[in-house]
Amino acid sequence: MRGMPKTALIGVLSLLATLITGTGAYGYYYLASELGRAQEALTATKQDAEARAAALMEDLAIKNEEKITLAGELRLLQEAHEDEKRTVRKLSNTVDDLEKIVATDPELLAKYSKVYFLNENYAPAKLSSIATEFTFQKERTYEVHADIAEFLEDLLTDAKEEGLSLVVASSYRSFNTQAALKSGYRVKFGTGANTFSAEQGYSEHQLGTAVDFTTPTVGGMFVGFDKTDEYAWLTKHAYKYGFILSYPKGNTYYQYEPWHWRFVGKKLAERLHEDNDYFYNLDQRVIDSYLGKLFD
Ligand SMILES: [Zn+2]
Repeated sequence: MRGMPKTALIGVLSLLATLITGTGAYGYYYLASELGRAQEALTATKQDAEARAAALMEDLAIKNEEKITLAGELRLLQEAHEDEKRTVRKLSNTVDDLEKIVATDPELLAKYSKVYFLNENYAPAKLSSIATEFTFQKERTYEVHADIAEFLEDLLTDAKEEGLSLVVASSYRSFNTQAALKSGYRVKFGTGANTFSAEQGYSEHQLGTAVDFTTPTVGGMFVGFDKTDEYAWLTKHAYKYGFILSYPKGNTYYQYEPWHWRFVGKKLAERLHEDNDYFYNLDQRVIDSYLGKLFD
């Protein structure tokens, strides 16, 4: 450096200074612009994040709406399914009812009169004997329609538990038995037999679903039966077992028979009991609507 002129040295120094300060300025601008870019990037990222968050929120709102819609649809489907199930249930009940109606002998709920009574060949599908503890004459066999045996036994058992001695004095009678019985009455009572044991009455016995009750305490078999506790109990409770008095006092249909009870099923007996009405007073079409429920 010794040989270098002074001005040259100054020049070098000033160049150096310029370089140094220049570099410093450059560094500053560089950093500032970097910062600016970073800020811009940050702003962009923030906006981007906000936009994405907004989009997500919107998405979520849509999803929620879809969920609500789906839940609604599901509910509708479930309701429709319930409806369907109900319809199926109703239909199967109807089918059951129809099957029961078809399987039930319509004669069992038929009204009999002087012009319409059972065919002489009619016999119950199946008969069942009544336990001797509940029969009037122990040496005789008393039979009823097999499908009503359980109802009758429940009635007799409950009456016994109440301390009553209710017994069956007559139950199923075939056409021939009845004919013989009636001619027997004729011999004894002449033409009066018709009012004592008329066609209507014996038709019900031929069904196997009618029984004549008595109690050993009455003098004759039936006379005075309506004055007994057994009769009073029957008027209060027989309907619960499906039995009704066919010919109650004051009926316009046939003579009063307090001992003669017919099985018509719990549902119909209940209706008659509640309405204080009697079987023969009902329209046959109304009676027939109970056929499917006869043994319920
Ligand atoms: Zn009778």
